[in-house]
Amino acid sequence: MLAVTGISRSFGGVYAVRDVTLAVGEGEVCGVIGPNGAGKSTLFNLITGHLAADRGGVSFLGRPVERLAPHRRARLGMAIVFQGARVFRGMTVRENVMVGMHGRTRAGFVSAALRLPRHRRDEREIAREAGLALDRVGLAEWADRPADRLPMGQQRALQLARALCARPRLLLLDEPASGLRAGERERLATLVEELRASGLTILLIEHDVGFVTRLADRAVVLDLGQVIADGPPAEVRADPLVLAAYLGQ
Ligand code: ADP
Ligand code: MG
Repeated sequence: MLAVTGISRSFGGVYAVRDVTLAVGEGEVCGVIGPNGAGKSTLFNLITGHLAADRGGVSFLGRPVERLAPHRRARLGMAIVFQGARVFRGMTVRENVMVGMHGRTRAGFVSAALRLPRHRRDEREIAREAGLALDRVGLAEWADRPADRLPMGQQRALQLARALCARPRLLLLDEPASGLRAGERERLATLVEELRASGLTILLIEHDVGFVTRLADRAVVLDLGQVIADGPPAEVRADPLVLAAYLGQ
């Protein structure tokens, strides 16, 4: 589903990601772990198109996408949750999910501004789809509450609902468990397990090795921008190179 080949990106002459190659198969949960500053978010942004690569390729569903803008990669089926993504304040949970769905309907911005009847019908359809996504992440009963009042764990679930509304083929998550308490992590892990069971392919970027070991079929370890291990999570986390990278941070 996703193949990254020899991708590199430097900032001010220093490599943040150097010659990284990895592949994610359909239905797989691939974890990318590494200490802070290892290049995880840079790799994430190279895959999504939010950063341009200096060298290397990204292919998605069998086609090269490294020259495509982020919204075009999204349209092909990549959905993302950025590291530390915030909810929109002053909006309900449902409205947070509905934002960003309007671009996909026939009516779009112009008819929305003119309040055409077609727009009202689309609005109902969007609200219905948002409701289904919220149900999928266990937030249905919170739909009409202000989003910024949700506990952090549920705000993360809300970000997942937003991503799911795009009906993605590949879900990319950058440190979804960061800043969550143990109980919230547990609920998030269960949610990711459910998404995986539904057949969704997931690239899970995490600092937390335990979280990835539990959820991923495979783990790729980055250190100083390079892949230092790639294999079954239980093996990878026992690798002396990996232990040294985490201890050294
Ligand atoms: P991680 O997500 O694994 O913590 P990052 O990809 O955010 O790591 O960062 C990797 C390295 O690249 C770090 O040394 C960071 O300082 C550097 N870096 C990331 N983004 C930028 C940027 N926009 N400008 C300059 N340096 C950057
Ligand atoms: Mg990061």
